[in-house]
Amino acid sequence: GGGAAADLPDSISSVIPGWFSEISPLWPGEAHSLKVEKLLFQGKSDYQNVLVFQSSTYGKVLVLDGVIQLTERDECAYQEMITHLPLCSILNPKKVLVIGGGDGGVLREVARHSSVEKIDICEIDKMVVDVSKQFFPSVALGFQDPRVTLHIGDGVAFLNAVPKGTYDAIIVDSSDPIGPAQELFEKPFFESLAKALRPGGVMCTQAESIWLHMQIIENIVANCRQIFKGSVNYAWTSVPTYPSGVIGFMLCSTEGPAVDFKHPINPIDADDSHVKTKGPLKFYNSEIHSAAFCLPSFAKKAIESK
Ligand code: SAM
Repeated sequence: GGGAAADLPDSISSVIPGWFSEISPLWPGEAHSLKVEKLLFQGKSDYQNVLVFQSSTYGKVLVLDGVIQLTERDECAYQEMITHLPLCSILNPKKVLVIGGGDGGVLREVARHSSVEKIDICEIDKMVVDVSKQFFPSVALGFQDPRVTLHIGDGVAFLNAVPKGTYDAIIVDSSDPIGPAQELFEKPFFESLAKALRPGGVMCTQAESIWLHMQIIENIVANCRQIFKGSVNYAWTSVPTYPSGVIGFMLCSTEGPAVDFKHPINPIDADDSHVKTKGPLKFYNSEIHSAAFCLPSFAKKAIESK
């Protein structure tokens, strides 16, 4: 009943000392925790609080405004899926834009594709880039690729200035829709994404959890169905340190040559020249690509109804 928390023993009534607990109104009533070995960095940028700590079991962890962005152990699942789901769905991607993604992990994955000639990235917060280069060299190595141009600024403004039809693919690797990333989940942003893509171009955006954010997902799907006249799909994957342990992606294509996201036509597993500089893929393969679009019935029903 009311006030029960006060009657509980200390071991379960309080946040565990020495552990990082991820508490947010985006997932009320639950908080995933990691044991902290050492605090490595704490700072405040113009946009957010930035924290890096060494955890006991997931390696180093990057936290923005109290929300885990990546851990060394499971970042592969997120970075590989958000990148190769779109890029393996079209032939010869050449020009790619990344919005957010200041850690460099998505760049590392885009750079595995030998057809790519130009990679732009627009990240709002330079502190994320600097901290990643200092503490997450195996992630930030994406910045070393000569095809990469880094723009520090708001992704919304950057995209609005892009000439129509510029990119083959755009990947939106954003934080959650509270704080600087809020606009990246709104309809005008999806409209400018569609405009910046060539006909039959593809976009992939971070699209939250089916266990926690079905309402946010339904809104995104409804907007995308109005804007993207090619195809509109939702995929998901497992990332243990994200709230509820899963994360979704919205994958859409613009009107033009048809894109069938569920059947990758540009397999990356075939060409392994990238392995020498970037190490092997740890998570993505063509089977998991197709499987990512299979949804539990409750999510399938909600998404198809939009
Ligand atoms: N790659 C990470 C992972 O492995 O899970 C995901 C998070 S990434 C660090 C999200 C980035 O989006 C943050 O660095 C944040 O600063 C950036 N961001 C948020 N809002 C933005 C905006 N409006 N324009 C550009 N970047 C933005």
